[in-house]
Amino acid sequence: MLPTGAAAATRRLRMHQIPPPSAAPDRALPFPEPGPGALWRGLVEQIPAVTYVAEFDAGATLKYVSPQIEELLGYTPDAFLRDPALWYACVHPDDLDRVRREELRTFESRTPFDCEFRMVHRDGHEVIVWERDAIITDADGAPTHTQGVLMDVTPMHLIRDELDAERESARRYLEVAGAAIVVLDRAGRVELLNRSGYKLAGHPEGTLQGRDFLGTVLDGDDLAEARTVFAAAMDTGHMPPSTEWRLVRTDGARTVAWTHRVMRDEHGEVIGTVSSGTDVTERRAAAAQIAHLANHDPVTDLPNRRLFGEHLELALARAARAGHAVGLLYLDLDDFKLVNDSLGHSAGDRLLVEVAQRLRARVRDADVLARHGGDEFLVLLGDLDPATAAEDAKAAGRGVLDALAVPFVLAGMEVHVTGSVGISLLPADAFDAESLLRHADAAMYQAKREGHDQVRLFDADRGEPRQRLSLTSRLRHAIAEEQLVLHWQPIVDPATRRLEALEALVRWQDPVRGLVMPDAFVALAEQAGIIDRLGELVLDLVVRQRVRWRQDDGFEPTVHVNLSPRELRNPRFADRVATRLADHHIDPATVVMEITESTAMQDPGQVRPLLRDLHDTGVRIAIDDFGAGHSSLSRLVGLPVDMLKIDRSFLARVPADPASAAVLSAVVALAGALNLQAVAEGVETESQREQLVGLGCPLAQGFLLGRPGPAHTVRGQLQRAAA
Ligand code: C2E
Ligand code: CA
Ligand code: CA
Repeated sequence: MLPTGAAAATRRLRMHQIPPPSAAPDRALPFPEPGPGALWRGLVEQIPAVTYVAEFDAGATLKYVSPQIEELLGYTPDAFLRDPALWYACVHPDDLDRVRREELRTFESRTPFDCEFRMVHRDGHEVIVWERDAIITDADGAPTHTQGVLMDVTPMHLIRDELDAERESARRYLEVAGAAIVVLDRAGRVELLNRSGYKLAGHPEGTLQGRDFLGTVLDGDDLAEARTVFAAAMDTGHMPPSTEWRLVRTDGARTVAWTHRVMRDEHGEVIGTVSSGTDVTERRAAAAQIAHLANHDPVTDLPNRRLFGEHLELALARAARAGHAVGLLYLDLDDFKLVNDSLGHSAGDRLLVEVAQRLRARVRDADVLARHGGDEFLVLLGDLDPATAAEDAKAAGRGVLDALAVPFVLAGMEVHVTGSVGISLLPADAFDAESLLRHADAAMYQAKREGHDQVRLFDADRGEPRQRLSLTSRLRHAIAEEQLVLHWQPIVDPATRRLEALEALVRWQDPVRGLVMPDAFVALAEQAGIIDRLGELVLDLVVRQRVRWRQDDGFEPTVHVNLSPRELRNPRFADRVATRLADHHIDPATVVMEITESTAMQDPGQVRPLLRDLHDTGVRIAIDDFGAGHSSLSRLVGLPVDMLKIDRSFLARVPADPASAAVLSAVVALAGALNLQAVAEGVETESQREQLVGLGCPLAQGFLLGRPGPAHTVRGQLQRAAA
C-alpha cells in the first residue's frame, strides 16, 4: 500500500486544491530486486496502470512508483518519493477516512489492500482509482514489503453510470406506462412486473417477483387457456399476439386485453415472454351494452325484430329436427294511435312498457316475446305438439288478449286496450320464417277486420282475396297508392336550438291500421325487393315538400333523407338523384343522404365507388346510427362522408354513466378531427342537451328538440331559422 504516515497534514486540504510537492530529500530508490531489473521495469512501465513497491512498515515508505502516476495524478514519481504527504494530498478528502481505515485494517491483519476511491489530479479533475496490493514475505514468512497496482477506473464508472441512468429511465418509463407490463421467464415466473401491473393485478408492489404469474392472477378457463398458450410459446416460440383474460381480484375480476411477444436470447433460444395488458373492463361492458341495445327495443327492453328473427330461425331448425310444430303470434294493439295522439307519446311509451310486462308474465319461459315495432308484438311458441298446435296456439293467443283485459292507468286515466292476434303455424301454414311471419301478419289483419279483441288462425282458403293479402302485397299496394307520408324531425344546434335541417321519416298511412312506423315495414320492403320503389317515392315526397316550402314560404331548408343499402347498390341511383334535384332546382348541397354505418362498412370495395358517385352529385352523406354497429371511426377514413350521426344508444345513458359520457365525448372529438359534422341523436332531456353543448357537438336531434311530425308542425321553427 502507499504510505500511511503524515496524513494529518493533508486532512485540511480541500478538494481540487492540492499544494505543490514540498521539496523533500531525494529518497528515490532503484527498482528493487528480484529479477533482471531493467526488463521488469520496462514491462511494468508499459502497462496501463500504476505499479508501486513500499516498505512493510508503519509508514509504508514508498520505494518505487511507476511513471504512469504522472499521467494519473500530474506529479512525477520523484515527487511522491520525496514527499510522503503528497499521496494523501491527492486522495479525495471525502474518501480519505475510508482509505485510511482500510490501510490500518490491512496492516494489522496482514491481508491485501483492495479498495476503490477517488483521487484528485494536480489540475483539479477527479479520477476514480482501484488499488490492490500484495504482501511480500521473507524466507521466514515475515512481511518485508508490499507491491501493488493502481488503476484508473474512471471510464468504467462513466460507462456504468450511463448504463444505470439508462436502466433507470427505462424503469421509469415502465412505471409511468399506463399499461401493465410483465416479463416472465421460461418457467412462467415474474421477472419484471411494473407498477401498473401490480395495480391491475391488485397485489402490493414487489410481492409477485419470482412467482408463478398466471397461476396467481388467473383462474378457471382463462388459466387453463393461458397455461396452454404459454407452454406452447416456450415449446414452439409462437404465441398468439393478443389474448383477453380476466384477472381475478378480491374486489372483482377485470377484463384485460393482452399483447404478447416471445423473448429470445442472442442464440435465438426462447427465454420467456413479455406481455402488456390494458384494462378493458368498461370498454367491454359498453360493447355488451351496445350489443344489447342493438338487439332490444329501447322502450320495452324486449328483444327486437332482429333478435326475434334469430330465435325464430333456431326454433324452426330445432322443430324440423324434432318433428315439432312452431306457432307464431302476431299481436297488434287496437287504437294505439288514439292513445298516442290523445295522451302523448310518453303515455304511449308507458302503455307499451306495461303491455310488455303483462305479456311477459303471461307467456311460458320458453316462449320468446318481442316487440316488432310500433304497437306490434310477437310471441314465438316453440316445441308444440303438431296434433294440438292449433288449439295450443289459439289458447296462448286468447291468454295474450286476456292479459290486456284489465284497464291500464295512463296519465291518471283508465284506458281500455284491446288487441288483435293473428297466428300462423309451422309446418301447417309455412315452412320458413318469412312466410310464417307474413301469414301471422295476414291473420292478424283479418282478425282486426273482423272486429277488435279477436284471435285468428291463418287460413289460406278463407275469406275474400283482399283479406288474405300478405303484408308484402299490402305494402306494394300502399306504395303504388302513395299511402306513404313523410314526417319531419328537426336537427338543431344544441346550444341555440336553432333549426339547421330536417330529417324526413317515412310513415305508412294504412287505412285499416292507421299510421305504421317505418320499423314495421322498411325492412320488409327491403326483403321483398320493393325498397327501390319505396325509396323513389320517399325522394319524390321530399322533393315535392321542398318545392312547396319554397313556393309557400320561400324556405330552402337542408333535408336529410334515409337510404337503404339496396337503394345505394343500384348503379343508376346517383344519376336519378341528380336529375330529380336538378329538375326542381334544388341545390344538392342542401340534401343529406343518410346511410347506416353497416351499409357503409359492408363490402367497401363495392360501396365506396357508389358513395363516391352519389357524393359527386353534390349531395352530402351522413353515417346514420354510428356506434350501433361497433365499427371504428378509422374505417370511415377514405369514404366520402360529411356527417356522423351518433346512435342514440350512446346518449341514452348520459349523463348518469360516466363511461358513456367519455365514449360520447371521444366520438365527438374524433368526428371533429376527421372533419365530420357530428349529430347526436336521441336528445330527450335538458341535461343531455347541456352535455352536448359542453362537448361542442355542433348538431343534435331528439324528442326534446323536436318530435317528428307532418310538415306543418315544423313551420314555426323554419320561420325562426329563416328570420
Ligand atoms: P333513424 O334514421 O335513426 O331515425 C330516427 C328515429 O329515431 C325515428 O324513428 C325517430 O322518430 C326516432 N327518434 C328521434 N328522436 C328520438 C328520441 O329523442 N328518442 C327516441 N326514443 N327516438 C327518437 P322512426 O321514424 O320510427 O324511424 C325508424 C327508422 O326507420 C329510422 O331510423 C330509419 O332507419 C328508418 N327510416 C325512416 N324513414 C325512412 C326512409 O324514408 N327510408 C328508409 N330506407 N328508412 C327510413
Ligand atoms: Ca336517419
Ligand atoms: Ca339514426
